[in-house]
Amino acid sequence: MNGEVIKRKLTKKIRVGTIYIGGDAPITVQSMTNTKTEDIKSTVEQILKLEECGCDIIRVAVTNIESAEAIKSIKKNIHIPIVADIQFDYRLAIESVKNGADKIRINPGNIGDRQKLIEVVKALKYYGLPLRVGVNSGSLKKELLNKYGMPTAEALVESALEEINILEDLDFQDIVVSIKSSDVITTIKAYELISQKVNYPLHLGVTEAGTLIKSTVKSSVGIGTLLYKGIGDTIRVSITGDPVEEVKVGIELLKSLNLKKSGIDLISCPTCARCNVNLISIAKEIEQRLSNIKEPLKVAVMGCAVNGPGEAKEADIGLAGGNKSFVLFKKGKIERTVGENEAVEVLIQEIKELLKKSKSI
Ligand code: SF4
Repeated sequence: MNGEVIKRKLTKKIRVGTIYIGGDAPITVQSMTNTKTEDIKSTVEQILKLEECGCDIIRVAVTNIESAEAIKSIKKNIHIPIVADIQFDYRLAIESVKNGADKIRINPGNIGDRQKLIEVVKALKYYGLPLRVGVNSGSLKKELLNKYGMPTAEALVESALEEINILEDLDFQDIVVSIKSSDVITTIKAYELISQKVNYPLHLGVTEAGTLIKSTVKSSVGIGTLLYKGIGDTIRVSITGDPVEEVKVGIELLKSLNLKKSGIDLISCPTCARCNVNLISIAKEIEQRLSNIKEPLKVAVMGCAVNGPGEAKEADIGLAGGNKSFVLFKKGKIERTVGENEAVEVLIQEIKELLKKSKSI
Protein backbone atom coordinates (compact mmCIF):
# COMPACT_ATOMS: atom_id res chain seq x y z
CA MET A 1 0.00 0.00 0.00
CA ASN A 2 1.32 3.46 -0.85
CA GLY A 3 2.53 5.51 2.12
CA GLU A 4 2.37 2.59 4.58
CA VAL A 5 4.02 3.46 7.89
CA ILE A 6 6.53 1.15 9.60
CA LYS A 7 5.88 0.67 13.32
CA ARG A 8 9.12 1.46 15.16
CA LYS A 9 10.26 -0.02 18.44
CA LEU A 10 9.95 2.72 21.04
CA THR A 11 13.41 3.17 22.53
CA LYS A 12 14.74 5.55 25.17
CA LYS A 13 14.94 9.14 23.92
CA ILE A 14 18.41 10.64 24.14
CA ARG A 15 19.27 14.31 23.60
CA VAL A 16 22.23 15.15 21.39
CA GLY A 17 22.70 18.91 21.36
CA THR A 18 19.60 20.37 19.72
CA ILE A 19 18.11 17.10 18.49
CA TYR A 20 16.97 13.74 19.84
CA ILE A 21 17.77 10.13 18.99
CA GLY A 22 15.27 7.39 19.86
CA GLY A 23 11.75 7.39 21.24
CA ASP A 24 9.37 9.22 18.93
CA ALA A 25 12.14 11.36 17.40
CA PRO A 26 12.47 11.09 13.61
CA ILE A 27 15.25 8.80 12.40
CA THR A 28 18.33 10.94 11.82
CA VAL A 29 21.03 10.69 9.17
CA GLN A 30 24.62 10.97 10.30
CA SER A 31 27.93 11.27 8.55
CA MET A 32 31.57 11.65 9.46
CA THR A 33 34.10 14.16 8.16
CA ASN A 34 37.20 12.93 6.38
CA THR A 35 39.22 16.13 6.71
CA LYS A 36 41.85 16.44 9.44
CA THR A 37 39.73 17.63 12.35
CA GLU A 38 42.39 20.12 13.46
CA ASP A 39 42.17 21.74 10.00
CA ILE A 40 39.25 23.81 11.21
CA LYS A 41 38.58 25.62 7.91
CA SER A 42 38.33 22.45 5.80
CA THR A 43 36.34 20.60 8.45
CA VAL A 44 33.81 23.43 8.81
CA GLU A 45 33.50 23.72 5.01
CA GLN A 46 32.78 20.01 4.72
CA ILE A 47 30.24 20.05 7.56
CA LEU A 48 28.39 23.00 6.01
CA LYS A 49 28.13 21.09 2.70
CA LEU A 50 26.79 18.07 4.58
CA GLU A 51 24.27 20.22 6.44
CA GLU A 52 23.03 21.56 3.12
CA CYS A 53 22.37 18.00 1.91
CA GLY A 54 20.35 17.21 5.04
CA CYS A 55 22.89 15.72 7.44
CA ASP A 56 21.43 15.78 10.97
CA ILE A 57 24.46 14.87 13.10
CA ILE A 58 28.17 15.05 12.28
CA ARG A 59 30.99 13.02 13.76
CA VAL A 60 34.65 13.99 13.72
CA ALA A 61 37.60 11.77 14.57
CA VAL A 62 39.56 13.07 17.54
CA THR A 63 43.08 11.76 17.16
CA ASN A 64 45.13 14.23 19.19
CA ILE A 65 44.78 17.14 21.57
CA GLU A 66 44.69 19.67 18.68
CA SER A 67 41.65 17.97 17.16
CA ALA A 68 39.90 17.84 20.55
CA GLU A 69 40.51 21.58 20.98
CA ALA A 70 39.39 22.28 17.39
CA ILE A 71 35.85 21.18 18.32
CA LYS A 72 35.38 24.51 20.10
CA SER A 73 35.92 26.57 16.92
CA ILE A 74 34.19 24.10 14.61
CA LYS A 75 31.07 24.14 16.76
CA LYS A 76 30.78 27.94 16.54
CA ASN A 77 30.56 27.73 12.75
CA ILE A 78 28.15 24.84 12.21
CA HIS A 79 24.48 24.26 13.00
CA ILE A 80 24.17 20.54 13.74
CA PRO A 81 25.30 18.51 16.77
CA ILE A 82 28.90 17.33 16.72
CA VAL A 83 30.08 13.93 17.97
CA ALA A 84 33.68 13.26 18.96
CA ASP A 85 34.92 9.85 17.88
CA ILE A 86 37.55 8.50 20.24
CA GLN A 87 39.71 5.44 19.82
CA PHE A 88 42.42 4.35 22.29
CA ASP A 89 42.97 7.51 24.40
CA TYR A 90 40.18 8.17 26.88
CA ARG A 91 41.74 11.53 27.80
CA LEU A 92 40.79 12.84 24.35
CA ALA A 93 37.17 12.03 25.16
CA ILE A 94 37.38 14.21 28.25
CA GLU A 95 39.07 17.03 26.29
CA SER A 96 36.41 16.81 23.57
CA VAL A 97 33.67 17.10 26.17
CA LYS A 98 35.34 20.17 27.67
CA ASN A 99 35.55 21.71 24.20
CA GLY A 100 31.84 21.39 23.46
CA ALA A 101 31.24 18.00 21.83
CA ASP A 102 27.54 17.11 21.98
CA LYS A 103 28.16 13.36 22.24
CA ILE A 104 31.08 10.97 22.50
CA ARG A 105 31.54 7.78 20.55
CA ILE A 106 33.97 5.30 21.98
CA ASN A 107 34.87 1.85 20.84
CA PRO A 108 35.08 -0.06 24.11
CA GLY A 109 37.40 -2.69 22.67
CA ASN A 110 39.94 0.04 22.04
CA ILE A 111 39.59 2.13 25.21
CA GLY A 112 41.02 -0.32 27.71
CA ASP A 113 40.31 -0.75 31.40
CA ARG A 114 37.27 0.12 33.47
CA GLN A 115 38.95 3.01 35.31
CA LYS A 116 39.35 4.90 32.03
CA LEU A 117 35.67 4.49 31.26
CA ILE A 118 34.84 5.74 34.77
CA GLU A 119 36.78 8.95 34.07
CA VAL A 120 34.95 9.49 30.77
CA VAL A 121 31.56 8.91 32.42
CA LYS A 122 32.36 11.44 35.14
CA ALA A 123 32.96 14.11 32.49
CA LEU A 124 29.83 13.14 30.52
CA LYS A 125 27.66 13.32 33.62
CA TYR A 126 29.10 16.70 34.56
CA TYR A 127 28.23 18.15 31.12
CA GLY A 128 25.00 16.13 30.70
CA LEU A 129 26.11 14.42 27.48
CA PRO A 130 25.35 11.02 25.94
CA LEU A 131 27.77 8.34 24.83
CA ARG A 132 27.62 5.90 21.95
CA VAL A 133 29.00 2.47 22.66
CA GLY A 134 30.31 1.71 19.18
CA VAL A 135 31.27 -1.94 18.88
CA ASN A 136 32.90 -2.83 15.59
CA SER A 137 33.71 -6.25 14.11
CA GLY A 138 37.22 -5.08 13.23
CA SER A 139 38.20 -4.22 16.78
CA LEU A 140 36.56 -6.73 19.06
CA LYS A 141 38.31 -7.56 22.35
CA LYS A 142 40.74 -10.49 22.14
CA GLU A 143 38.90 -12.51 24.80
CA LEU A 144 35.67 -12.39 22.80
CA LEU A 145 37.43 -13.26 19.57
CA ASN A 146 38.99 -16.25 21.32
CA LYS A 147 35.65 -17.29 22.80
CA TYR A 148 33.66 -17.08 19.55
CA GLY A 149 36.48 -17.71 17.06
CA MET A 150 35.39 -14.77 14.91
CA PRO A 151 33.36 -11.56 15.27
CA THR A 152 29.94 -13.23 15.24
CA ALA A 153 26.70 -11.41 15.98
CA GLU A 154 26.72 -12.99 19.46
CA ALA A 155 30.27 -11.77 20.09
CA LEU A 156 29.39 -8.23 19.06
CA VAL A 157 26.31 -8.26 21.28
CA GLU A 158 28.26 -9.64 24.25
CA SER A 159 30.85 -6.89 23.84
CA ALA A 160 28.17 -4.20 23.74
CA LEU A 161 26.33 -5.66 26.76
CA GLU A 162 29.57 -5.78 28.79
CA GLU A 163 30.12 -2.08 28.21
CA ILE A 164 26.49 -1.19 28.79
CA ASN A 165 26.62 -3.06 32.12
CA ILE A 166 29.67 -1.11 33.21
CA LEU A 167 27.97 2.17 32.27
CA GLU A 168 24.77 1.19 34.07
CA ASP A 169 26.81 0.19 37.15
CA LEU A 170 28.13 3.75 37.08
CA ASP A 171 24.52 4.95 37.00
CA PHE A 172 24.89 6.20 33.43
CA GLN A 173 22.03 5.60 31.00
CA ASP A 174 22.43 8.24 28.29
CA ILE A 175 23.55 5.55 25.89
CA VAL A 176 23.25 4.97 22.16
CA VAL A 177 24.47 1.61 20.85
CA SER A 178 25.96 0.48 17.57
CA ILE A 179 27.27 -2.98 16.72
CA LYS A 180 28.53 -2.81 13.19
CA SER A 181 30.01 -5.56 11.08
CA SER A 182 31.29 -5.38 7.51
CA ASP A 183 29.18 -8.49 6.91
CA VAL A 184 25.56 -7.60 6.22
CA ILE A 185 23.97 -10.73 7.71
CA THR A 186 26.06 -10.48 10.89
CA THR A 187 25.07 -6.81 11.19
CA ILE A 188 21.37 -7.63 10.85
CA LYS A 189 21.56 -10.51 13.35
CA ALA A 190 23.55 -8.47 15.86
CA TYR A 191 21.11 -5.55 15.84
CA GLU A 192 18.12 -7.88 16.08
CA LEU A 193 19.68 -9.54 19.13
CA ILE A 194 20.67 -6.34 20.90
CA SER A 195 17.28 -4.81 20.17
CA GLN A 196 15.66 -7.66 22.15
CA LYS A 197 18.02 -7.12 25.08
CA VAL A 198 18.20 -3.35 25.60
CA ASN A 199 15.94 -0.36 25.14
CA TYR A 200 18.64 2.15 24.23
CA PRO A 201 18.42 3.84 20.84
CA LEU A 202 20.35 2.08 18.09
CA HIS A 203 22.70 3.70 15.61
CA LEU A 204 22.59 1.54 12.47
CA GLY A 205 25.33 1.00 9.94
CA VAL A 206 27.26 -1.57 7.99
CA THR A 207 30.89 -0.78 8.61
CA GLU A 208 33.67 -0.58 6.02
CA ALA A 209 31.00 -1.05 3.37
CA GLY A 210 33.17 0.03 0.44
CA THR A 211 32.82 2.49 -2.40
CA LEU A 212 29.59 4.11 -3.60
CA ILE A 213 27.77 1.28 -5.38
CA LYS A 214 28.90 -1.53 -3.07
CA SER A 215 28.14 0.45 0.07
CA THR A 216 24.79 1.66 -1.22
CA VAL A 217 23.74 -1.94 -1.81
CA LYS A 218 25.16 -3.33 1.46
CA SER A 219 23.76 -0.45 3.52
CA SER A 220 20.38 -0.58 1.84
CA VAL A 221 20.10 -4.30 2.52
CA GLY A 222 21.53 -4.14 6.07
CA ILE A 223 20.08 -0.89 7.36
CA GLY A 224 16.94 -1.24 5.24
CA THR A 225 16.10 -4.71 6.56
CA LEU A 226 16.44 -3.52 10.16
CA LEU A 227 14.45 -0.34 9.62
CA TYR A 228 11.70 -2.37 7.97
CA LYS A 229 11.52 -4.46 11.16
CA GLY A 230 11.14 -1.28 13.21
CA ILE A 231 14.72 -1.41 14.53
CA GLY A 232 16.98 1.65 14.47
CA ASP A 233 16.87 5.29 15.50
CA THR A 234 19.72 6.91 13.60
CA ILE A 235 21.73 5.75 10.58
CA ARG A 236 25.10 6.22 8.98
CA VAL A 237 25.86 4.91 5.52
CA SER A 238 29.60 4.38 5.38
CA ILE A 239 31.13 5.07 1.95
CA THR A 240 34.75 5.18 0.83
CA GLY A 241 34.45 8.59 -0.83
CA ASP A 242 32.75 11.93 -0.37
CA PRO A 243 30.64 12.00 2.84
CA VAL A 244 28.04 14.01 0.91
CA GLU A 245 27.20 10.74 -0.88
CA GLU A 246 26.68 9.06 2.52
CA VAL A 247 24.05 11.62 3.44
CA LYS A 248 22.32 11.43 0.05
CA VAL A 249 22.14 7.62 0.19
CA GLY A 250 21.00 7.73 3.86
CA ILE A 251 18.19 10.15 3.09
CA GLU A 252 17.03 8.15 0.04
CA LEU A 253 17.11 4.99 2.15
CA LEU A 254 14.78 6.55 4.73
CA LYS A 255 12.55 8.02 2.02
CA SER A 256 12.22 4.63 0.32
CA LEU A 257 10.71 3.22 3.54
CA ASN A 258 8.47 6.25 4.13
CA LEU A 259 10.55 7.09 7.20
CA LYS A 260 11.37 10.55 5.92
CA LYS A 261 9.37 12.84 3.73
CA SER A 262 11.40 15.62 2.22
CA GLY A 263 12.49 16.83 -1.16
CA ILE A 264 11.75 15.42 -4.57
CA ASP A 265 10.84 11.77 -4.97
CA LEU A 266 11.76 11.28 -8.62
CA ILE A 267 10.15 8.33 -10.37
CA SER A 268 11.83 7.65 -13.70
CA CYS A 269 11.94 4.60 -15.92
CA PRO A 270 15.13 2.90 -17.16
CA THR A 271 14.13 3.55 -20.83
CA CYS A 272 13.94 0.91 -23.54
CA ALA A 273 13.39 0.65 -27.29
CA ARG A 274 9.95 2.22 -26.90
CA CYS A 275 11.45 5.50 -25.68
CA ASN A 276 11.49 8.31 -28.28
CA VAL A 277 12.69 11.14 -26.03
CA ASN A 278 16.09 11.87 -24.50
CA LEU A 279 14.85 10.68 -21.12
CA ILE A 280 18.13 9.88 -19.36
CA SER A 281 19.64 13.36 -19.69
CA ILE A 282 16.26 15.00 -19.01
CA ALA A 283 15.75 12.99 -15.79
CA LYS A 284 19.30 13.73 -14.62
CA GLU A 285 18.90 17.46 -15.26
CA ILE A 286 15.56 17.55 -13.44
CA GLU A 287 17.03 15.67 -10.47
CA GLN A 288 20.03 17.99 -10.26
CA ARG A 289 18.00 21.21 -10.61
CA LEU A 290 15.46 20.14 -8.01
CA SER A 291 18.01 18.86 -5.48
CA ASN A 292 17.66 21.90 -3.20
CA ILE A 293 13.90 21.57 -2.77
CA LYS A 294 13.04 20.49 0.76
CA GLU A 295 9.25 20.15 0.39
CA PRO A 296 8.06 16.59 -0.33
CA LEU A 297 6.92 16.26 -3.94
CA LYS A 298 6.52 13.23 -6.17
CA VAL A 299 7.71 13.85 -9.72
CA ALA A 300 7.47 11.25 -12.51
CA VAL A 301 9.54 11.40 -15.67
CA MET A 302 8.68 8.45 -17.91
CA GLY A 303 9.78 7.34 -21.35
CA CYS A 304 6.60 6.27 -23.16
CA ALA A 305 2.91 5.55 -23.03
CA VAL A 306 3.26 2.02 -21.56
CA ASN A 307 3.74 2.94 -17.88
CA GLY A 308 4.22 6.69 -18.33
CA PRO A 309 0.67 7.98 -17.97
CA GLY A 310 0.00 5.66 -15.00
CA GLU A 311 3.06 6.81 -13.05
CA ALA A 312 2.65 10.44 -14.10
CA LYS A 313 -0.97 10.41 -12.91
CA GLU A 314 0.06 9.01 -9.49
CA ALA A 315 2.68 11.72 -9.01
CA ASP A 316 2.10 15.34 -7.99
CA ILE A 317 3.43 16.25 -11.39
CA GLY A 318 4.77 14.17 -14.23
CA LEU A 319 5.93 13.89 -17.80
CA ALA A 320 5.06 10.89 -19.97
CA GLY A 321 7.12 10.59 -23.15
CA GLY A 322 5.68 10.51 -26.66
CA ASN A 323 7.37 11.14 -30.00
CA LYS A 324 9.94 13.89 -29.27
CA SER A 325 7.38 15.35 -26.86
CA PHE A 326 5.87 14.75 -23.42
CA VAL A 327 2.38 14.84 -21.98
CA LEU A 328 2.38 16.94 -18.83
CA PHE A 329 0.28 15.61 -15.93
CA LYS A 330 -0.59 17.67 -12.86
CA LYS A 331 -2.32 16.17 -9.82
CA GLY A 332 -3.49 13.24 -11.94
CA LYS A 333 -4.85 15.26 -14.85
CA ILE A 334 -3.49 15.85 -18.35
CA GLU A 335 -2.43 19.49 -18.69
CA ARG A 336 -0.92 19.73 -22.17
CA THR A 337 1.72 18.41 -24.55
CA VAL A 338 5.20 19.97 -24.39
CA GLY A 339 8.11 19.62 -26.79
CA GLU A 340 11.12 17.56 -25.74
CA ASN A 341 13.39 20.62 -25.75
CA GLU A 342 11.20 22.71 -23.46
CA ALA A 343 10.18 19.86 -21.13
CA VAL A 344 12.69 20.56 -18.33
CA GLU A 345 11.96 24.29 -18.17
CA VAL A 346 8.19 23.75 -18.28
CA LEU A 347 8.31 21.12 -15.55
CA ILE A 348 10.47 23.25 -13.26
CA GLN A 349 8.24 26.29 -13.74
CA GLU A 350 5.15 24.19 -12.98
CA ILE A 351 6.81 22.77 -9.84
CA LYS A 352 7.66 26.27 -8.61
CA GLU A 353 4.03 27.27 -9.04
CA LEU A 354 2.80 24.12 -7.28
CA LEU A 355 5.10 24.84 -4.32
CA LYS A 356 4.02 28.50 -4.21
CA LYS A 357 0.37 27.42 -4.13
CA SER A 358 0.91 24.80 -1.40
CA LYS A 359 2.66 27.44 0.76
CA SER A 360 -0.19 29.90 0.38
CA ILE A 361 -2.85 27.32 1.37
FE1 SF4 B 1 10.29 1.46 -21.80
FE2 SF4 B 1 8.16 3.00 -21.67
FE3 SF4 B 1 8.72 1.37 -19.63
FE4 SF4 B 1 10.20 3.51 -20.06
S1 SF4 B 1 8.00 3.52 -19.52
S2 SF4 B 1 10.96 1.47 -19.67
S3 SF4 B 1 10.21 3.65 -22.26
S4 SF4 B 1 8.18 0.78 -21.69
